[in-house]
Amino acid sequence: MSAFNHYIDGEWVSSAGAARNINPSDTDDVIGEYAQAGRAEAEAAIAAAAQASGAWRAGGVQRRFDCLDFIGSEILARKDELGRLLAREEGKTLPEATGEVVRAGQIFKFFAGEALRIPGDATASVRPGVDVEVTREPVGVVAAITPWNFPIAIPAWKIAPALAYGNTVVFKPAELVPGSAWALSEIIARSGLPAGVFNLVMGEGREVGQILLDDPRVDAVSFTGSVGTGARVAAACSGRGARFQLEMGGKNPLVVLADADMDAAVACALNGAFFSTGQRCTASSRLIVETSVHDQFVEALTSRVKALRVGHALAEGTEIGPVVDQGQFDKNRRYLDIGKEEGAALVCGGERLERDTPGFYMAPALFAGTGNHMRINQEEIFGPVAAVIAAADLDEAVAIANDTPFGLSAGICTTSLKSAARFKRESRAGMVMVNLPTAGVDYHAPFGGTKASSQGPREQGRYAAEFYTTVKTAYVGA
Ligand code: ADP
Repeated sequence: MSAFNHYIDGEWVSSAGAARNINPSDTDDVIGEYAQAGRAEAEAAIAAAAQASGAWRAGGVQRRFDCLDFIGSEILARKDELGRLLAREEGKTLPEATGEVVRAGQIFKFFAGEALRIPGDATASVRPGVDVEVTREPVGVVAAITPWNFPIAIPAWKIAPALAYGNTVVFKPAELVPGSAWALSEIIARSGLPAGVFNLVMGEGREVGQILLDDPRVDAVSFTGSVGTGARVAAACSGRGARFQLEMGGKNPLVVLADADMDAAVACALNGAFFSTGQRCTASSRLIVETSVHDQFVEALTSRVKALRVGHALAEGTEIGPVVDQGQFDKNRRYLDIGKEEGAALVCGGERLERDTPGFYMAPALFAGTGNHMRINQEEIFGPVAAVIAAADLDEAVAIANDTPFGLSAGICTTSLKSAARFKRESRAGMVMVNLPTAGVDYHAPFGGTKASSQGPREQGRYAAEFYTTVKTAYVGA
């Protein structure tokens, strides 16, 4: 029996299966055994969420505020401990992990406030003597299906708005990171929510996740993960008329113009491409550099990349943690081979690094002399790998930036207001960054992309209401 169980209908529930949670910085370090749900647990969680829905939607917003505020406060108070757990199971560095935990706490605090500010409209009717009221109501049962790369922030930005707007939740975290999910759920379980309002089921996506997608009692699915799984979510949900929201990959460009502050541009590229081991959907994987400064940029970036300290996520001074697991490590290596076969020049990195503990350590890799049509510039790798593409001028840079199946984030480094304004206008991405890394966003502003990156309403901030509520229009006569 595992020490870390599912949370269903207000109870901690074990199940037959369990899975080990392994530290990618030290594969000898087992974080714990986490219960693995099957059909019975998934269906019990859905039934509990459906059962609790009516009373929760009618329960009033003060209680929602109190619960979310409690959760946010406890996450913030325990940021160091939760940050260590997150770094240990996911492999991002301790400062990055602690920062993510703080972000999760802030998100719960934000949506505690939003529960008291659910918007509505009163408008004049075209018929005299009639009033028109537009209100926002809960959708019902929401399934939150999350990836491994932000083990507490992404669950927070789905669970917090779902609860704030009066929905009940079934949370299915990624297989690789049940630890942070369980710790978050343990806090939520003590926050004063009625039984069944929030449920945690851990387990395989293709089994437990698929049950959530197919069950008619699940009214909405908020998913972050791969494009392939996102297509499954879309097919299952649209087939049965359920609401869905998808956040998937990116192949985010960072354009560097000749007039940019070169040190700042190199710092943006370094951060955007390699921090969090490049395992961010907003990572800058395509560095599009104006030809006149191309060589200077590559030289400066290469020396910064080579100097990055790759090591154990918990070790003092580590700048880049390990890759999350062997599967992702192998995928990164495959793309390095693909890049070389396509004729790209590997300027540095890509090799396996030995450290004191057995882990998935990879030297950050930089390609130069690449073309945008190459697979390494069209397909998401999701590792510490970036490629430089030369562009003659802003026109060509914009065209290359937009020539991708994805459209999540896009950045430009320039000192020209005119060029920045044009890039903001012409970029086909959902988020545009000027003189900032492509990764790194605020929690109260909408997050999301275009094309294959996203589908459905935006996440985060007040825009989250679009997904987690349904609009009712009431006509009231005299
Ligand atoms: P990644 O490549 O980041 O692991 P996935 O799309 O495989 O991306 O996983 C994201 C989330 O989707 C995880 O929680 C995973 O368990 C879940 N998942 C995977 N397959 C399915 C599926 N068929 N139905 C529902 N959820 C799934």
